[in-house]
Amino acid sequence: MKTSRPIRARIAPDAILKNYRLAKRHAPAAKAWAVIKANAYGHGQWRAVQALREEADGFALLECENALALREAGITQPLLLLEGIFNSRDARAVVEHGLTTVIHCPEQLALLLDTGPFERPVSVCLKLNTGMNRLGFTAQTFAIAREKLRQIPQIALTLMTHFAEADGARGIAGQFDQFQAMLGDWKGPVSLANSAAILRHPMAHGDWVRPGIMLYGASPFAEQSAAELGLQPAMTLESKIISVQTLATGDRVGYGGTFTADRPMRIGVVACGYADGYPRHAPTGTPIAVMGQRTRTLGRVSMDMLVCDLSDIPAAGIGAPVTLWGRGLAGDVPADEVANAAGTIAYELFCALAPRVPVEVGEI
Ligand SMILES: *Cc1c(COP(=O)(O)O)cnc(C)c1O
Repeated sequence: MKTSRPIRARIAPDAILKNYRLAKRHAPAAKAWAVIKANAYGHGQWRAVQALREEADGFALLECENALALREAGITQPLLLLEGIFNSRDARAVVEHGLTTVIHCPEQLALLLDTGPFERPVSVCLKLNTGMNRLGFTAQTFAIAREKLRQIPQIALTLMTHFAEADGARGIAGQFDQFQAMLGDWKGPVSLANSAAILRHPMAHGDWVRPGIMLYGASPFAEQSAAELGLQPAMTLESKIISVQTLATGDRVGYGGTFTADRPMRIGVVACGYADGYPRHAPTGTPIAVMGQRTRTLGRVSMDMLVCDLSDIPAAGIGAPVTLWGRGLAGDVPADEVANAAGTIAYELFCALAPRVPVEVGEI
């Protein structure tokens, strides 16, 4: 719904496409599942699909129903179910509509095989647990599964794993070695790399990479910015100043009065709060831009409003444009910086964008 309240999320499909191309340049020999789970990390599943429709090698998501909706809309690329099937209806849909499913445990494998015998090829990504200890077969259960699958020629198998620390100092070495050890003499396709591994660990590119966060223009790394990586922000959250207050030394701001002015100040109230998806834990000092000029938030974020320092932006009055994150009027306010200040990651900010925020689709 279009609203007069000035908050907007601007989504840039061209940024998503550029970021996808960057992922492909990093892993030129691999195909890529564009990860569009969680409503494309808050950017809108259909917007992301539209942006990547011509170029993505495949799409990865969670819900079988969403994959079927994509098929219905004429998307012919491989569609990967990242958590696999949840019941026999999903299993039948996978077979009938040519979806690719993760199979991560013996129970799930049984669900799938119970829908056989198969009359056409069925694509399966068998997930191996190489140390993340979330989903995946262990060395033992994998041996049994592989034996079962060997007897079903219709099953086209890819072996897959997921890294816990591709973005961190420990890296992927341990999990990569474990994966190699589990593969044994496997010569078929493999899939390992999330955004961090695509950007930092070429040895793990394999046959299919799985870029997620990088498509949306945020960095998977704490110490390397999206701009340094050449990524374009795909979501900009912007609003306006709706009230201006003048503080005397000692005046406090907002719920709990957690910020106290140590000098006379001018502050602006922004129409954006945690019910819009802005993180409530963003403390005083979180970056924000007003009329293209960087400044800081003050005090606690409330449900519908937050406060920023206008002391150095005298021209900013009611109606002045505010960038909460994304592409500003003069430079970016990286979602990664806002997230970091709030003790979280851009993934969470994007996914938390509230349904009440009107979305506009535009260019970067
Ligand atoms: C979400 C997800 C990805 C994408 O991870 P990013 O860090 O966003 O690139 C890749 N693989 C799997 C299995 C996932 O669940």
